[in-house]
Amino acid sequence: MARIPFIDTENCEACGTCESLCPGVFKLNEELGYAEVIDPLGGDEDCIQEAIESCPTGCIRWVET
Ligand code: SF4
Repeated sequence: MARIPFIDTENCEACGTCESLCPGVFKLNEELGYAEVIDPLGGDEDCIQEAIESCPTGCIRWVET
């Protein structure tokens, strides 16, 4: 059992915080106007957790796989 981050993109306000905290996992897609998970295993859990806690709209969460 593993867990990976998921972004509820409808509520993303494209602030870029997640990408700056954890650039191997999150990337802001400026054309689309929201951040995407580019590689769910591209960073350690601590940096993903920090991004989850720092997201101003709370739109990142863990999902179990
Ligand atoms: S921190 Fe949250 S609101 Fe900001 S770009 Fe990432 S997902 Fe979007």
